[in-house]
Amino acid sequence: MTATTNIPFLDLVSPHVELEGEILPVIQTALRTAGFVGGPLVEGFERDFAQYCQTQYCVGVASGTDAVRFALIASGVKPGDLVVTVPNTFIATTEAITQAGATPVFVDIDEHTYNLDPARLRDYLEVHCRVDGATGQPRDRKLDRPVTAIVPVHLYGQTADMDSIQELAARFGLLVVEDACQAHGAEYFSRRENAWKKAGSLGRAAGFSFYPGKNLGACGEGGAVTTNDEQVARRVRMLRDHGQAQKYYHDMEGYNGRLDAIQAGILQLKLRHLDRWNDARRACARRYRDLLAGQPDVTLPFEPFWAKAVHHLYVIRTDDRVGLMRHLAEAKIGTAIHYPIPLHLQKAYGHLAYHQGDFPVAEKLASQIVSLPMFPQLRADQQEIVAQELLGFLVGLRQSSESRSYAACV
Ligand SMILES: *Cc1c(COP(=O)(O)O)cnc(C)c1O
Repeated sequence: MTATTNIPFLDLVSPHVELEGEILPVIQTALRTAGFVGGPLVEGFERDFAQYCQTQYCVGVASGTDAVRFALIASGVKPGDLVVTVPNTFIATTEAITQAGATPVFVDIDEHTYNLDPARLRDYLEVHCRVDGATGQPRDRKLDRPVTAIVPVHLYGQTADMDSIQELAARFGLLVVEDACQAHGAEYFSRRENAWKKAGSLGRAAGFSFYPGKNLGACGEGGAVTTNDEQVARRVRMLRDHGQAQKYYHDMEGYNGRLDAIQAGILQLKLRHLDRWNDARRACARRYRDLLAGQPDVTLPFEPFWAKAVHHLYVIRTDDRVGLMRHLAEAKIGTAIHYPIPLHLQKAYGHLAYHQGDFPVAEKLASQIVSLPMFPQLRADQQEIVAQELLGFLVGLRQSSESRSYAACV
């Protein structure tokens, strides 16, 4: 163990020191024009981010939670609806569903990609729902309520299998809203369209977060909705601004959910660095793979041929998560768990009456996952130390279990 190592889980200071010379003039521009809310900085960023995501429209909002909520409401999710998503995501996904007036319904994840499992989704729609004769829409048999939307989450920076999800959505008349809050710049190869497509352009609408730790992060809070649907974009613009298109003429009640102009200006300049940062994350992921591949006691992230991940997080699996995290903490290496308790077992969702065992893949994953340090400025020598400590821990684990079984024999 090297006493001098200190490898943070995430370094948010270095990129901002590096960009200080670009960021300060943005703040100055806002100060000198008093353009704090809306205006050219927000519009400029919206234009650039729409182009980046290969969508017609982008509407800046105050957070990722607002983005997913507004995208759902604007796409037509109504109070009383059921919206399908996964149990292994940040609670903001389901908060957005509930705050749109709907109720989340969970479907288990794929054991390898950790994203929504299309086979489980099909099973839910075919077995646990019946088609409503009047509307043609699926109705949950037990809850007796209509299922209207799916929110696939592109977790850890890798897209869900969108072709399969879209196929089911089309068959059952469901709308798809992406939670792209961890997937700025991630790509998906659509076999239907024979083309690589950007996260944020794969559903009716998508929500992005610009929370500081995301791949594209503000120096504060921020979010955006991307869409190719003009109506949806128009509705999100109204929802973020008290339901008005014209000042003090309110077509509906909305929210105070606007993107701050200073944040928009900072995001616009940071966007120019995003591909470089995502490439650096990919290089880090490749290096972890080279250093850790072939170990029996650790499962590395799986990237299917149809995904180009942007590695928002680098998540491995091991049976002795507690021991590994303690060992790495002693070596001054930061780790985290995303996420320790699947949403269906959270106290906040007790009223949904799910139980342990309902989503075995998500539950097993939650007990094994550890997120290793991952950020664009992470250096090769730091990764080597992480790998060395991790492998050292695993070897120790094997030796102690071997000596235990030896002791049991004699
Ligand atoms: C960060 C995140 C959100 C919420 O974003 P905020 O900007 O913090 O509101 C939603 N979903 C997922 C998957 C996230 O990681």
